[in-house]
Amino acid sequence: MRFLAPALLALLVPGAAAAQDAVFTGEITGADHQHYKPVPFDVPAGVERITVTLTYDKANKTVVDMGVWDPERFRGWSGGTRDRFTLAPSDATPGYLTGALPAGRWQLMLGVPNARANSRAAYRVTVDFDRAGGTHASERIADAPLNPASGWYRGDFHMHDANSDGSCSSQSGKRVPCPLFRTVEAAAKAGLDFAAVTDHNTTAHFGGLRELQPYFDRTLLIPGTEITTFGGHANIFGERRFVDFRVGAAVPDIAALTRDVAAAGAILSINHPALPSGEACMGCGWIWPNTDWNRVTAIEAINSTITTGPLAGIGFWYARLNEGHRLTGIAGSDNHDPDAPEGKAPIGRPTTVVHAPELSLAGILAGIRAGNVFIDVAGTRNRLLEVTAAAGKSKAVMGGTIAGDAGLRIHAHAVGVGGASAELVVNGAVAAQSPVAGDDAHVEFPLAPRSCGWAAVNVRDGEGRPLLVGNPIYLTCRRS
Ligand SMILES: [Zn+2]
Ligand SMILES: [Zn+2]
Repeated sequence: MRFLAPALLALLVPGAAAAQDAVFTGEITGADHQHYKPVPFDVPAGVERITVTLTYDKANKTVVDMGVWDPERFRGWSGGTRDRFTLAPSDATPGYLTGALPAGRWQLMLGVPNARANSRAAYRVTVDFDRAGGTHASERIADAPLNPASGWYRGDFHMHDANSDGSCSSQSGKRVPCPLFRTVEAAAKAGLDFAAVTDHNTTAHFGGLRELQPYFDRTLLIPGTEITTFGGHANIFGERRFVDFRVGAAVPDIAALTRDVAAAGAILSINHPALPSGEACMGCGWIWPNTDWNRVTAIEAINSTITTGPLAGIGFWYARLNEGHRLTGIAGSDNHDPDAPEGKAPIGRPTTVVHAPELSLAGILAGIRAGNVFIDVAGTRNRLLEVTAAAGKSKAVMGGTIAGDAGLRIHAHAVGVGGASAELVVNGAVAAQSPVAGDDAHVEFPLAPRSCGWAAVNVRDGEGRPLLVGNPIYLTCRRS
């Protein structure tokens, strides 16, 4: 049994502005000692998540256990261990069962293992519903970010475990579906700030991530899904519900899928877009017609070890940028085995480094959207690429926009890549190159007046292989 100080208890209570769907208050007295006290509540149709929070006066050693039954069956018990639980079709607090949330009368059950004879302890139960298309209570009462500071955060956006086709060696050396824990542990050992687990077409790993997150309190675990269609793969981040992947069947076309993902406030990132399709790699390349690029946020510019050549995603990404679309380039190891046998990309290689307002799911999503992001191909813990554009008094960082009419200067701060070569890319073509002098170096590139479109900086090694891949700064020009 663990008792919380009143100050800590206050933190668990949702903010005063939050309007709960139901609030129940009452008293636990000596008469409740070793009794169960049902607190019924009604769940309307269309609820996608139920979150229940209990606070009570723990003085005088009053203890209240908690669990819940839906109209038909038992749905979980956390005893006196927790003050809050959440249930959804895709995930639930450990100790609770995922699954459909039937409308009707539910019973929250308060068990009282101890209440002293003459004691009176006030309690308060709040019930929050997430509704389709409505505000999400679970976001309002989400746990605090792992790190509240704004800054650069390193992570891997793409990996698989036993919940799809990830595998590893068992105790006796057999190849077995690899437990989610091993995957997450490898991400933590790689020193990543965040790791997105993206099993194919399923949300079955979301509950496991919810269980693992409190233990891995230095690595933000992002529940993702790799939507795996016959015409391409895309990772979705920030959607906790199942997304139907059956384009051409349950979903009319890819535009409908991207519209629904965007409407949910989630991010869609197209994976390994330049891989072949057909029998060589079924459904791997992105070949959907009518892709609504305004609803695509990111492209996996580097997948696994494919950094150069026609199969790399960078060319596909640059082609979309040249069409005028704004897309953040990210990377993923696409790891299927946390032990990463020779020749396969380990978790965290490549790494995407995101400038985010905080280390939380919302923070990383905001960072991808803003586009101040670069790829560290080797997945180091120290390399840095900060790019700014300056024209007169105005400035922009990667993902930002600046006027290119009067000419400007592109400045790159590169750390950990001394002796390498920085290149300026303008509208997809290398416009200039400059050596990176030292491990904490500054490189400047001038851009002529009427530079319109986009510019990015990359860093390559002596053999021309990319070490750091920067995101574009968008250059606008007034029509003359
Ligand atoms: Zn894939
Ligand atoms: Zn994958």
